[in-house]
Amino acid sequence: VTQAHLDRIAEVDDFVHAFLHVDAEGALAAARAVDEAGEPASALAGVPLALKDVLTTRGIPTTCGSRTLEGWIPPYDATVTRKLREAGVPILGKTNMDEFAMGSSTENSAFGPTHNPWDHARIPGGSGGGSAASVAAFEAPLAIGTDTGGSIRQPGSVTGTVGVKPTYGGVSRYGLVAFSSSLDQAGPCARTVLDAALLHEVIAGHDPRDSTSIDAPVPPVVAAAREGLRGDLTGVKVGVVTEFSGDGYQPGVRRSFEAAVELLASLGAEVVEVSCPSFTYALPAYYLIAPSECSSNLARFDAMRYGLRVADDGSHSAEEVMSLTREAGFGAEVKRRVMLGTYALSSGYYDAYYGSAQKVRTLIKRDFDAAFERVDVLVSPTTPTTAFKLGERVDDPMAMYLADLCTIPSNLAGNAAMSVPSGLSDEDGLPVGLQIMAPALADDRLYRVGAAFE
Ligand code: GLN
Repeated sequence: VTQAHLDRIAEVDDFVHAFLHVDAEGALAAARAVDEAGEPASALAGVPLALKDVLTTRGIPTTCGSRTLEGWIPPYDATVTRKLREAGVPILGKTNMDEFAMGSSTENSAFGPTHNPWDHARIPGGSGGGSAASVAAFEAPLAIGTDTGGSIRQPGSVTGTVGVKPTYGGVSRYGLVAFSSSLDQAGPCARTVLDAALLHEVIAGHDPRDSTSIDAPVPPVVAAAREGLRGDLTGVKVGVVTEFSGDGYQPGVRRSFEAAVELLASLGAEVVEVSCPSFTYALPAYYLIAPSECSSNLARFDAMRYGLRVADDGSHSAEEVMSLTREAGFGAEVKRRVMLGTYALSSGYYDAYYGSAQKVRTLIKRDFDAAFERVDVLVSPTTPTTAFKLGERVDDPMAMYLADLCTIPSNLAGNAAMSVPSGLSDEDGLPVGLQIMAPALADDRLYRVGAAFE
């Protein structure tokens, strides 16, 4: 199976460009070890996987899609990587992504964009476009992404794959190169909800190496997916978020969403409308909080500790080397966020910007809490449009940011959310995703509803 996927990568990845690095030797060695072990280490033993290049892999390059980390070989495995290895999952390679996970199209990768397998001229979503595209192009049956504002779910939506952002703290962030630490969360990409659940179970669980890891049992996601496959949602209350409809949504996406809601009702779910007024402020709050944390996290790339170092000829001061290296190593979007974040955190502006954004975050959490007193899950479109054309939004950061309009509230509140394919748009024939949101630590509800729906 691993060899077949390596062959597929060799055949199509020149066109898709989902991978930044393929580790054929390592993947085959892991596959052989599974064969020789006899007793499988997990349900996924021998099932190969593509890993987003933001998770550290001992002995294998980890670039985060940035020139800054080109040539850096981590001396340690992320907890997610370690758990995959222990489960006997061969790692095929590292997938392309927007630089440091900042973007919605993979066009911010320093190594060139990934192409959507459905239409080569279109974006595969981002930041984890490489992971989603590898699954959609049958280069890998499973992949890992990370979701800070939508980077697993939006790529899932536009490539017709399943993407899950687990509850914040449900999957360890140890070895996940930090973008916005209070939002970052790793999760599964797959072609079916049950596949995603099996992967979720492998990577989740408490980790003392991550101070924000939750010390609680992993929600019963596999059992919930199996239950969902029976196709009966009797007794499940589904809330349609009223704020996520209307202007700004492609008519084809809107119609697909309406059909999805009808399908949920036909499976027995009780559907009600739920208003979450603060969700309207989620996007602006995110674009203060995420850049603020990014400006602090990316300060570690100082030309001394990792990867790239320029102007190191003895004629420059340490400060000059640092500044010239950051100028050469970071792309435009990363620089924009470092500047925005530094400004938002600066004395005199802190309360007005960062402080206000944190208050919005609390209001969003309260909207979710109130909603989940009435319903079991909330639903919305995953993203307002189908895959847009490569190049269409590169010069318009605001338009790019809108891709995460519906996904960001779950990151700000820390709850669980999934994108599940809801068919093809009747407008352009491209995949559309249904977003399902559940309370923190109730990830199993996503899997039950998602498996019944798919
Ligand atoms: N597109 C969003 C951003 O650019 C989300 C990224 C992510 O989830 N990593 O910040």
